[in-house]
Amino acid sequence: MSATTTHELAARLRLHRSAREWRGDCPLCGYRDALVLGTGRGGVPLLWCAACLDRDGLHALQRSYGVMPRTADAPPAEATPDEQAGLSWFNGLSTAACAYWLADARSARAVDAWRAYKRATSPEAAP
Ligand SMILES: [Zn+2]
Repeated sequence: MSATTTHELAARLRLHRSAREWRGDCPLCGYRDALVLGTGRGGVPLLWCAACLDRDGLHALQRSYGVMPRTADAPPAEATPDEQAGLSWFNGLSTAACAYWLADARSARAVDAWRAYKRATSPEAAP
């Protein structure tokens, strides 16, 4: 297995355990204890900074450690207008909202969170 786990990522970023997640200084903006590392559904590491909110920077950082970012950087070429709308919606969410909908969807994929959101907000469209 070569996949980087949340534990390994926390160790490499020198984060300390805080309740159910890890915290530490953000390597991007340098803000003290602003970097938060949690574990999403399926063990996917979720990394964010409460100070700079530099999503692209954190994605690049995760990639440098061999961890896939938790959201797509851009809609895939074959994305439908609905999926593109979902990605725009997801990227505009607060960290707490992202976590909520990913947990609701039991997934680490933005498109699944979007489906969960639509299910929750459009009861008439539910199966
Ligand atoms: Zn930061």
